[in-house]
Amino acid sequence: MMKTKIIFATGNEGKMHEIRDILKDMDAEIVSMKEAGIDIDIVEDGTTFEENAVIKAKAVAACTDAVVLADDSGLEVDYLNKEPGIYSARYLGENTPYSEKNKNLIARLKGVKEEERTARFVCAIACVLPDGNELATEATIEGRIGYAEKGKNGFGYDPIFMVPSYGKSTAELTEEEKNKISHRGKALRAMKEKLQAYFDR
Ligand code: IMP
Repeated sequence: MMKTKIIFATGNEGKMHEIRDILKDMDAEIVSMKEAGIDIDIVEDGTTFEENAVIKAKAVAACTDAVVLADDSGLEVDYLNKEPGIYSARYLGENTPYSEKNKNLIARLKGVKEEERTARFVCAIACVLPDGNELATEATIEGRIGYAEKGKNGFGYDPIFMVPSYGKSTAELTEEEKNKISHRGKALRAMKEKLQAYFDR
């Protein structure tokens, strides 16, 4: 039987790396949009993570017969009324280095007490199947915004996202440690179960 092909609708290499690791035991070929030769601009104009994930998955599904997965994720900082939220990638400009975005968030939390530095990463995953059916999952990881950037692993806001149970930032965790507890890891494993149930029907 031919392997199921799954296209993940992202151009973010950091995410692709995590996704391949989490889905490695699935009997599927997992490729990025770029590897699938799909080059489209998608306007993410949804108002929630889930809406944006569905928008991305549907846009790519219109170009292929493969299974399409898309995620939309971001950082919610409670003290900043859940900013940057769905604008996490665009915060201070799409091309602004994360060292600058991270320093800016730390500065905006200057003097803010430990208990009020709560934050979470959120990840919504949407799937569009070749028969048009849709599946969706969402998960979070709770943490706190740190006082300085720490660690070199991961990507984006990882150096300032402290996980209390580890006493480390997600950039100080190994990829395996992060995937076990992360928003994306949890949402993807939930999606893997839904997909398997769907294929086993
Ligand atoms: P998206 O590609 O539109 O889903 O944007 C997600 C953005 O949220 C990323 O570019 C990062 O800024 C942030 N983000 C999401 N997940 C993570 C993570 O696991 N670590 C660090 N930053 C993340």
